[in-house]
Amino acid sequence: MTMYKRDYYEVLGISRNAGDEDMKKVYRKLALKYHPDRNPGDKQAEENFKEAAEAYEVLRDREKRQIYDRFGHEGLEGRGFRGFSGFEDIFASFGDIFEDFFGFGTRRSGRSRARPGNSLRKDLELTLEEAFYGKNNEIAFQRLEFCLTCDGSGLTPGSDRQICGTCQGRGQVIRSQGFFQIGTTCPACHGEGQIITDPCRDCRGQGRVRVDRKINVKIPAGVDTGSQLRLSGEGEAGEYEGPPGDLYIFIHVKEHGFFNRDGDDLICEIPISFVQAALGGSVMIPVLGDDDAYQLELTHGTQPGQVIRVVGKGMPSLKSQQRRGDLYVRILVKIPEKLTQQQRELLEAFAETEGLTRSDKKSRGKNLWKKMMK
Ligand SMILES: [Zn+2]
Ligand SMILES: [Zn+2]
Repeated sequence: MTMYKRDYYEVLGISRNAGDEDMKKVYRKLALKYHPDRNPGDKQAEENFKEAAEAYEVLRDREKRQIYDRFGHEGLEGRGFRGFSGFEDIFASFGDIFEDFFGFGTRRSGRSRARPGNSLRKDLELTLEEAFYGKNNEIAFQRLEFCLTCDGSGLTPGSDRQICGTCQGRGQVIRSQGFFQIGTTCPACHGEGQIITDPCRDCRGQGRVRVDRKINVKIPAGVDTGSQLRLSGEGEAGEYEGPPGDLYIFIHVKEHGFFNRDGDDLICEIPISFVQAALGGSVMIPVLGDDDAYQLELTHGTQPGQVIRVVGKGMPSLKSQQRRGDLYVRILVKIPEKLTQQQRELLEAFAETEGLTRSDKKSRGKNLWKKMMK
């Protein structure tokens, strides 16, 4: 269980006869550097922060410093000193120092319980047409809101908070370990120094109640699957005057039977007859928008699989509602499965003009594929 512990003077980088002011200055620097607010999620910084706090805790105390100077870490451990269990301990012990160090240190000390409310997520499914035009949607959901009965205080109206009897309103209790004393957050009042003896009946002292809520959300034109709308402050109410969370709407756009989507562009396939493909001409195709059809001009000799771009007939752009993506039309050429007698004769006449006969038996092997590659 013995863990290697660095020398406290080494941790703070001071000499063995450093005075209180020097030590405070040095500790201030280290605490600033490794402060958890400045190094979120950084385990090494957290360790350094704790190490420096422990070193300072010992060396600023004349009695502990003497024991340490004479007997080292073991001397302190033998007398029940265990350092800090976590940030709460450190901030509780050095609350005064952190306050004049940072001006914000005490917000972790537990004196203020203000906490932001949770953000919420709602999923919304739209058709492609709804995504095209945009839509006003009523979103129904549950969230924690300020209790109106007690105005978020958690108190029965007319009653008041009482000074916490466990800590006499200090918000922390002093635990003795050997002859060392360590301050920790009061378990009875969670550091507030006050307790509610007559809680509001509607929220049972929580200050917040769960309510069914419906709000109207304007979904802008052009949203796509993966689009998120953030409704600031429409999440859950914060605790003890903490700010509310946000509401996030996650958009899912359903597949469409005719159009596929690629960002702001739309893609569709239209079948035309082989005669239209050969001769060219115009064909009406469906598009989204008020002019729900578009006359597509085909050049003669349009090929199967050819893609024709129709500028500005795609989806509206989320970034600029004036702009629209394009529509890409892929041409499918239909070959008739049955012919009338007249059609057959006409096609046979056409085949003759191309030098083809119905049973071109002379063409074999090399001749055949050379012909195919013409
Ligand atoms: Zn209430
Ligand atoms: Zn208390």
